[in-house]
Amino acid sequence: MTSIQHNLQQVRQRISAAAERCGRDPQEITLLAVSKTKPASAVEEAALAGQNAFGENYVQEGVDKIAALTTLSPLTWHFIGPLQSNKSRLVAENFAWCHTVDRLRIASRLSEQRPAHLPPLNVLIQINISDENSKSGIMLAALPELAKDVALLPGLRLRGLMAIPAPEASYERQLSVCQKMAEALAQLKQDYPYVDTLSLGMSDDMEAAIAAGSTMVRIGTAIFGARDYTNVTHNKN
Ligand SMILES: *Cc1c(COP(=O)(O)O)cnc(C)c1O
Repeated sequence: MTSIQHNLQQVRQRISAAAERCGRDPQEITLLAVSKTKPASAVEEAALAGQNAFGENYVQEGVDKIAALTTLSPLTWHFIGPLQSNKSRLVAENFAWCHTVDRLRIASRLSEQRPAHLPPLNVLIQINISDENSKSGIMLAALPELAKDVALLPGLRLRGLMAIPAPEASYERQLSVCQKMAEALAQLKQDYPYVDTLSLGMSDDMEAAIAAGSTMVRIGTAIFGARDYTNVTHNKN
């Protein structure tokens, strides 16, 4: 067994164990394998081990891998990095999901640029849930207005919410932040009953995220090993 296969098995076991501890069906939780900075061959290895959802943070790097791997059985590509307007077309044309919608301008561009022959781009609104100095994501108070506008865009399908909580030392604190996100999703569902996705939980907080109700955990290092940014050729996005 390769180490990627082995790691995937362990991560799946962690997800199952966390789900079972809180009485959830592990099938409700999608594992998104975050392959940023890793070569296409690593994605291929994971795909051969049964993994089919992958997350990328850098537009051009992701597009290159998508192109290199089109012959593999269908993979679902999620864009999970900060998105600049001038890169939105590549996301609209190449990815199935975008987790980082945080302003109407980007959402409108993604909608306009989504090719007509593809199904609507699945989008998540990114919430700045830990309220720190992070520039990514909107405050919860701004969610109703952005959701209303995004839900009307024909090229997009609003699927839910995403957050990257600040690191917390204790499980209890992780859980309480994750629960705020779960409440926000429940509220959003009242107006948009088809909303079904909470993208929450990384290598260090996935147990708390799953206990709170996450439906999609984004795991990189625990699957592919530590990242080496020193000889990455992409510019920042
Ligand atoms: C890199 C990244 C991850 C994965 O992080 P790991 O700590 O490697 O599991 C998840 N979500 C986002 C948004 C990321 O940028």
